[in-house]
Amino acid sequence: MWRIKMHNIKDANRIVIKVGTSTLTHLTGRLNIRTVEKFVKVLADLKNMGKEIIIVTSGAVGVGMSKAGFDKKPDEITKKQALAAIGQCELMNYYGRLFEDYHHTVAQILLTKDVIEDEKRYKNAKTTFETLLNLSVIPVVNENDVISTEQLEFGDNDTLSAYVSVLTNADLLIILSDIDGLYDKDPKNNPDAKIIDVVDEITDEIKKGAGSEGSNRGTGGMITKLTAAQIATEKGIDMIIANGKDPMILYDIFDGKKTGTLFLGRGDK
Ligand code: ADP
Repeated sequence: MWRIKMHNIKDANRIVIKVGTSTLTHLTGRLNIRTVEKFVKVLADLKNMGKEIIIVTSGAVGVGMSKAGFDKKPDEITKKQALAAIGQCELMNYYGRLFEDYHHTVAQILLTKDVIEDEKRYKNAKTTFETLLNLSVIPVVNENDVISTEQLEFGDNDTLSAYVSVLTNADLLIILSDIDGLYDKDPKNNPDAKIIDVVDEITDEIKKGAGSEGSNRGTGGMITKLTAAQIATEKGIDMIIANGKDPMILYDIFDGKKTGTLFLGRGDK
């Protein structure tokens, strides 16, 4: 049980949940339908419990690849952007249809980094999120890969999810990954690695342990998750990294069970 004063995870109401490519897709790059279906079911139920849910989802290029008949990710950026356009539409189609079974409505939000750098756009995005949440809709967010250039991109969805939690003034950010949480070193190369339950400060030692890249299907590994933790916790938002293999884990989190790694938000929100 998490017993940390002022960090009542159970009562978090506005929640941003980021789900990564390695959770959403099989090794083939195609959508893992079983996981996606379970994920949607649990989120629909959390919504029924009265929580406000915002999803940050990857997977568009993977879904686009299978739709357009590509066996492997192309190297050309233009082709990747085209696949993102094909896949994003298909991905939303999945989310839309699956949530519809539970009478929930989703809305697509595609962001580029200028939204957080331009005051007017920031305000517009904030108001749109707020309006959607008031309408009891589930915003589904992704980077706008089709128009992203280096200057415009967040780079990875871990960082994007942290900015979204700040933008929406969320209580909690949950990053679902292909691993149980943050370890003191990469468990894939170090069998003796130990999971870290709670992080109240992102020290150099922690950063060093997160040094290597993630799975080849994911993008950022733990480094981008630490960046996300820095952005979120600085604004008083708690963050959890947990294993998305079985989306039922989300129930454990809201039952107050110790799950994955908890990064403690600092100060007032
Ligand atoms: P996702 O697609 O879920 O974002 P990634 O593959 O990008 O997943 O990141 C998770 C991977 O990061 C893990 O599978 C693991 O191999 C790697 N990793 C590197 N260092 C660590 C660490 N200290 N603790 C946990 N995982 C680590």
